[in-house]
Amino acid sequence: MGTGGDRSDDEPREKCGIVGVSLADRAAARPLYYALYALQHRGQESAGIVTHDGFQQHGHVERGLVGDAFEPGDLESLAGETGIGHVRYPTAGSLDKSCAQPFSVSFKSGSLGLSHNGNLVNADAVREELAAAGHAFTSDGDTEVIAHDLARNLLEEDLVRAVKHTMNRIHGSYSLTITHDDTVLGVRDPMGNRPLCLGRIDDGYVLASESAAIDTLDGDLIRDVRPGELVVLEPGGTGYDTYQLVDAGSTAHCFFEHVYFARPDSVIDGELVYEVRRELGRKLWEESGVETDVVMPVPDSGRAFASGYADAAAETAADGSPRAGDDDGIEFAEGLMKNRYVGRTFIMPTQDERERAVRLKLNPIRSTVEGKSVTIIDDSIVRGTTSTQLVQLVREAGAEEVHLRIGAPPIVAPCYFGIDMATREELIAADESTEEIRERIDADSLSYLSIDAVAAALDSSRADLCLGCVTGEYPFDVEGEETDRPVDSPSPDPPAADD
Ligand code: AMP
Repeated sequence: MGTGGDRSDDEPREKCGIVGVSLADRAAARPLYYALYALQHRGQESAGIVTHDGFQQHGHVERGLVGDAFEPGDLESLAGETGIGHVRYPTAGSLDKSCAQPFSVSFKSGSLGLSHNGNLVNADAVREELAAAGHAFTSDGDTEVIAHDLARNLLEEDLVRAVKHTMNRIHGSYSLTITHDDTVLGVRDPMGNRPLCLGRIDDGYVLASESAAIDTLDGDLIRDVRPGELVVLEPGGTGYDTYQLVDAGSTAHCFFEHVYFARPDSVIDGELVYEVRRELGRKLWEESGVETDVVMPVPDSGRAFASGYADAAAETAADGSPRAGDDDGIEFAEGLMKNRYVGRTFIMPTQDERERAVRLKLNPIRSTVEGKSVTIIDDSIVRGTTSTQLVQLVREAGAEEVHLRIGAPPIVAPCYFGIDMATREELIAADESTEEIRERIDADSLSYLSIDAVAAALDSSRADLCLGCVTGEYPFDVEGEETDRPVDSPSPDPPAADD
């Protein structure tokens, strides 16, 4: 899946949450279940857990939210002190249960469970090769390709070498948690596109997409898994080993994790997401602040941006001059109420339903906006549905001026590596200028954040980020798309596993 070209709406997108634990003398199922709850925002289509009790593997995978996918009895039947879990992002089109994860299978080389966040770009080629060698596939997902390749390698070599050889064969974006019998592994692709971190809990260790899941288990974040690194949790929760299997020389961390996707209370690649968003908000003020009566966020994701924006506005005026003593800047106010029971507008299949969903989801708070000039802050514009509806709603509620500030650059191209961004044809900024978009959504002014401001807020260089959706140039080869990495350079030779 996701092997190139513009995606169609019925193609599964691998925007997911993964976890793995190894504990001393306690069943892994319940901590995994709690961790999946903490990662629910990363996927609502299906949830699953695979455990191993030292003799055999157990699994339960069901469609739906974590709370609906498991009955109390299911957790009890998931015996064993090690295991992995997965939540999967919903898609507009067809998705059968064979694509839900963790993927589990038993081979001559032992039993394997795999949870995958990301998208491979050469899954079809590897699948063909493996199929020709006699491997039978039950799904068209790329996770099964990884499982088969690993199983084949495990027939001939030890675990670490087997993982290294699989990493050399697969290309693209992947963070993985894997069970091989009762050993839990964590792997992050050589460019670290999707997050994965390692933590300690009282009686063991945990690997998770986001540190918020470690917090939920009362644990401490140790660090991010490094790009190209394998972490092996020892059975019994006694410790872990790490192996730097591939060194790509540069990273391609997804900036959009920080802008939209991750929880604000998670630390990703060393940065607390909430503080990054506040910093992005500050930069938004510095780059394109506009003096209005109030600034209000689109809840929930716009909140941290708007708070940073208002803080910066309290220090300097929009022209960069210091504020006079009695001038407090711009009032930060909640001007939109969110109905938390409405699902993400993104999963509505038709434009008409998407528009209705915005109105179901957000309602203006009249006293914040009536008779005022307002700035609305959101993290991103994808199709333009939300902003168009919001500007109209806020005007109808009596706002005199409506300005829109966006905490990300214009999204001009699809994401092939794990974030559901819509197809190029659907992206409003793919072929419209900022002025054309402003006119279309009927805002008094519209500004996005610059790419340089994003890199600065992330304390990173542009070259170490995946900016594919805002530049149209991708860190991995995607058929029919440009790459921002040198194409002719040979892939680096990884050190031996036991180096
Ligand atoms: P749109 O209405 O299509 O322009 O989408 C923009 C809105 O969707 C913003 O309020 C974002 O917070 C939110 N958003 C951005 N990216 C995504 C995504 N990948 N999945 C779901 N919602 C998103």
